[in-house]
Amino acid sequence: MSNPPANPAAAQVYKHGFGLKKDVAEELNRRYNDSRMVAHLRSHGNTLTIGDVRIYLAEEFGFCYGVDKAIDFAYETRKHFPDRRIFLTDEIIHNPRVNHELMEIGIQFLSGAYAGKVAIDDLNPEDVVIIPAFGTTTVLEKRLRDRGCVLVDTTCGSVVHVWKRVEKYAEEGFTAVIHGKFNHEETRATSSRVLIAPGAKYVIVRDKGQAELVCKYIATGGKSSEFLQEFDGAMSRGFDPDKDLEQIGVANQTTMLASESMEIAEMLQNAIVKRYGEDRAGERFRSFDTICRATQDRQDALLRLRAQENISLFLVIGGYNSSNTSHLLEMAIEKCPAYHVQDATDLISKEQIRHKPLGQNPSIDQNWMTKEPVSLGVTSGASTPNRVLEEVMLRFLELRGYSPAEVFSCLAA
Ligand code: SF4
Repeated sequence: MSNPPANPAAAQVYKHGFGLKKDVAEELNRRYNDSRMVAHLRSHGNTLTIGDVRIYLAEEFGFCYGVDKAIDFAYETRKHFPDRRIFLTDEIIHNPRVNHELMEIGIQFLSGAYAGKVAIDDLNPEDVVIIPAFGTTTVLEKRLRDRGCVLVDTTCGSVVHVWKRVEKYAEEGFTAVIHGKFNHEETRATSSRVLIAPGAKYVIVRDKGQAELVCKYIATGGKSSEFLQEFDGAMSRGFDPDKDLEQIGVANQTTMLASESMEIAEMLQNAIVKRYGEDRAGERFRSFDTICRATQDRQDALLRLRAQENISLFLVIGGYNSSNTSHLLEMAIEKCPAYHVQDATDLISKEQIRHKPLGQNPSIDQNWMTKEPVSLGVTSGASTPNRVLEEVMLRFLELRGYSPAEVFSCLAA
């Protein structure tokens, strides 16, 4: 560990890349985007029939604009600083392949599942640190600035939009009620933004069940000790439900289930009305839908896909820790058997599949593939490369008896 540099204010921050988009485009295409199968599906109404398998691909799937930008910046950073140490604060996005491949080009991780040996206190002004698409907390950002590091900030604009919303709540004396996962990087970053205003407060609700508890407390009060126990780790320090729920503003993690976020906002508004009356509710309640466009588009596309009568099986592809992928699964399982898989290796055999059931740890299921013809619905989360999507579809077809060579010859026909 070394002492912080003498002039931390000198930290440089890059937010718009290095003008090297064209220089990294070929590599990014090769690693992530290039997929003959996906291109074919796109140009054929998002359907493909091979033997007894008909594939239906969602109209919106895969990399979103925020992920595209973050990965592009990371590769541009490597090109711009070929001789410097480059770090990521944590996973750039929730996809294991993308994170591994960043390690392969010499980018190290400061924390999380891929963390190396270098800690923040070991950094110096020559080091370059990339902030991921989810953003980072104000505390961590300050520590990096204090070390004088060069910062490459890839925080998605849609996340910054949420920050502005909760900062405004905080400035106006409203407690932020955030629909999100308290241990998700984005929600940690968002909740830290609330604290820019002295005395500002937040509480994070995971789902409708927790929102219901907050609503009850607002409407009729309750035991503060029970409330504090329920939301332990998911609220600002010194949170007092008896006074900090008198004026609330609702926001959400950008990747939550949009329909649930809207319901939660309505539930909270009703609770405020119940407690303070219709006339005064306007002074005590603010709400703003902060689900991002890309998440909304992928969820809407899955709803349309789900409406296809004949789909008999869904594969939802994305990192196991990807929030938006888990919500796509949540929607898909209402229709038929659906599996959240991370990549093609999860399709172990005709009998066995490794997958992440909703709200549970990954596990292996038996006898997942039926003998009957299959109408397969496919989608992928915002952090899933098209290459991974293609590999999963090819593996599925291989298990049905169609080799990749046969599949590609069908595409060419
Ligand atoms: S999912 Fe939405 S908020 Fe997250 S990186 Fe993509 S566009 Fe941005």
